[in-house]
Amino acid sequence: MSAVRQEMWERLGGTVDVLVVGGGINGAGIARDAARRGLRVALVEMNDLAWGTSSRSSKLVHGGLCYLEQLELSLVFEAVSERRVLLDIAPHLVNPLGFLFPVFKSSRRPLGLINAGMWLYEGLSLFRSPKRHRTLTPGEVSKEEPSLKVANLKGAPLYYDCSTDDARLTLESALDAVNVGAVVATWAKVVEFVREGARVKGAVVEDTLSGTRKTILAHAVINATGPWTDRTIALSAPMDQALLRPTKGVHVVVDSQKLPVNNAVVCFHPDDGRVLFAIPWGDRTYLGTTDTDYEGDPSDVAATLEDVDYLLNASNHYFPSRPLTRDDVIATWAGLRPLMQPARKGQNIGESAVSREHQIIVGQDGLITIAGGKLTTYRRMSAEVVDTAVQMLRLSNALPRSLSSSRTDQEPLPGANGWPDDDNHARVAQQVRATSDNTLSEASARLLADTYGMRALQIARLVRQDPSLAGPIVPGRPEILAQINWAVTEELAATVADVMTRRTQLFYRDLDQGLGAAEIVADRMASLIGWTDEQRLASLQAYRADVALARRWREKLA
Ligand SMILES: Cc1cc2nc3c(=O)[nH]c(=O)nc-3n(C[C@H](O)[C@H](O)[C@H](O)COP(=O)(O)OP(=O)(O)OC[C@H]3O[C@@H](n4cnc5c(N)ncnc54)[C@H](O)[C@@H]3O)c2cc1C
Repeated sequence: MSAVRQEMWERLGGTVDVLVVGGGINGAGIARDAARRGLRVALVEMNDLAWGTSSRSSKLVHGGLCYLEQLELSLVFEAVSERRVLLDIAPHLVNPLGFLFPVFKSSRRPLGLINAGMWLYEGLSLFRSPKRHRTLTPGEVSKEEPSLKVANLKGAPLYYDCSTDDARLTLESALDAVNVGAVVATWAKVVEFVREGARVKGAVVEDTLSGTRKTILAHAVINATGPWTDRTIALSAPMDQALLRPTKGVHVVVDSQKLPVNNAVVCFHPDDGRVLFAIPWGDRTYLGTTDTDYEGDPSDVAATLEDVDYLLNASNHYFPSRPLTRDDVIATWAGLRPLMQPARKGQNIGESAVSREHQIIVGQDGLITIAGGKLTTYRRMSAEVVDTAVQMLRLSNALPRSLSSSRTDQEPLPGANGWPDDDNHARVAQQVRATSDNTLSEASARLLADTYGMRALQIARLVRQDPSLAGPIVPGRPEILAQINWAVTEELAATVADVMTRRTQLFYRDLDQGLGAAEIVADRMASLIGWTDEQRLASLQAYRADVALARRWREKLA
């Protein structure tokens, strides 16, 4: 089924069983689960899918080794179990990655303790980690990670977790919901709740691109708005205490030649001992993350000069032969962890110690809110939320007669249909290239296979029909023009930023963050969507504003 944003907006309306507010990973997961059970579902997202935290995470599907230290064993167990599920249902998007954990003589945690932690970690996954860990000697570390300092190194466990494309995991979950009948409308903001007596019974939704409004009625309304959770609840009922204590996390992207790493390197910041990662990302490496309390508007969150320096200082401490300067930073991203407020107000807790557990709350007005959690556990949390919605539908006699059980742990995401059991990305890339009659370069074919899974074959067919679509969006880079067409006709893209930032990753990877190619993208989108000159310009300017926000930290340097 095609997924065109304007068509979705036109289909939105009437009465549904479940209205999901928010198109991050949780909203997308809930819509998928509910639609797969046979419920009538509408999801509304005020920006693009994954526009919020779900495109700004560390992009790891992991148990969270550091949570072991906080003895959050059930959280780790749940997360490593879900890692296994995601490896099965989205093997093209969730990829095993080595994590190297250097332990120095000065380390607060001795090597033996960390090794014991590794065994516990693997035990909690019932020894179904992508690969078994082993501890490298300093000599082996020099070979495995030549840029990492080895002075005073005692050894380094190498263990395995997974990396992903968070925005695409969200998108594919939403597309799967669309495939089974859900309406997923982006650039559609809930501005008001509709009430029947004391109960929330729907919402007034505004098309944020045109300003028009619609009313949707629903038997259950779910608030999956991540860092906006409290604001969404406040639309319905006054609150005496905030549910969330959001913390800001910043990442910086540099060229992988400036900081080459073969594994995700886990280190403790030399100033405050917080856990940081240097993560390999193809032609780039990213560093993250900070963790600081945040009280502003979630839509304005951005990296500061202090955030950038904090990350660069840590990198220069651990990789002294690869000194980074502020000029090496290609892009930044900043997101908010929608963490639960500690139960007892006034409790003196450091930011990194705030629990990542989630909670499902049903308000007196019937609004179901999902708060907290992690990208990794989204599927399981979504199933729990839909269980709650089903109970509410049952109580109000609104439950459809035939309802399936949740099977989202067994149904592959769209790009995983037909993916080889041996997870051989290179072989899928060859198939993609052959399907394009070898019009695609090897690099583009690989990018398409890694990004779209088996759906890359459909893009290759477009290229075979029109070889000009194999042209690069940015000269010298593998992203191709066909991806713009595909984004608009199959993936709900409606703005230049949707394409640049979340359908492709040019915003993060291109040296000028895609600014040089923005006109090309805007022109193509204008002809595909039928934009007026004003609409084209507005979309371009909005993208330039996004880039400016991500670069605002540089203003302090001027
Ligand atoms: C720096 C950082 C690193 C992280 N790293 C990891 C990691 O590596 N692994 C991991 O498992 N987890 C990680 N997390 C946690 C994970 O990213 C989040 O838990 C998850 O993305 C939250 O998803 P969500 O759907 O709840 O929120 P969001 O993704 O923020 O989605 C909420 C959506 O609601 C929309 N919205 C708000 N108000 C309205 C309205 N009125 N109408 C319509 N739509 C509305 C917003 O636009 C937004 O898109 C990280 C988080 C951060 C901040």
